[in-house]
Amino acid sequence: MSLWALVCSLIPFELGQGLGVTGKYFLRKKTTVQYPEKKMEPTDRFRGMFGFSEERCIVCHACAKACPIDIIHIQDHFVELEVDGKKKKKKVLDRYDIDVKRCMFCGLCEEACPTAPVSIWLTTKTYETATYERNEQLYFTKERLQNWQGVSAYPGVLAPNAGMLPEDPMGTKPKAAPAEPAGKEGA
Ligand code: SF4
Ligand code: SF4
Repeated sequence: MSLWALVCSLIPFELGQGLGVTGKYFLRKKTTVQYPEKKMEPTDRFRGMFGFSEERCIVCHACAKACPIDIIHIQDHFVELEVDGKKKKKKVLDRYDIDVKRCMFCGLCEEACPTAPVSIWLTTKTYETATYERNEQLYFTKERLQNWQGVSAYPGVLAPNAGMLPEDPMGTKPKAAPAEPAGKEGA
């Protein structure tokens, strides 16, 4: 071993490098929070617990067809109605279940939904669905998808049947002004 190599081996360069990295992170703003007392707010595009609106759902089955692992189960029946003297058929939703314990939160069901706003959505900012029993507790019927019975909502988030909208789960964004009736412009 040369004299220079011997001198280099005695100086702890790696220790200096390691302390440099520690010092850099020591001075940065911390992102760790004291969970569960404090919770970090997920981003707007975070996919969490499902929201569902039976009122908006047109029972088209597009979400169930789009699901790659077939965990959305829909059943319906037709009823006959008389509108303006004409007989019409209307679909009635009997069953809309999601086996959430198998879900991979890909969002394809939400993407396939044709209603506006969508009738099934995952942008609910809610991630606390842990349970000691997965088979029943993580199997959501249409009632539980709407009233969120057994789900701990992210603070400020309403259940779907309390008025949560897919694009604004916390109800804090300004609502769009209603469209002007046609022909009013320039009056
Ligand atoms: S998010 Fe879940 S339910 Fe929806 S399509 Fe993906 S796997 Fe199926
Ligand atoms: S795609 Fe939307 S409207 Fe069609 S059945 Fe599913 S939730 Fe209902």
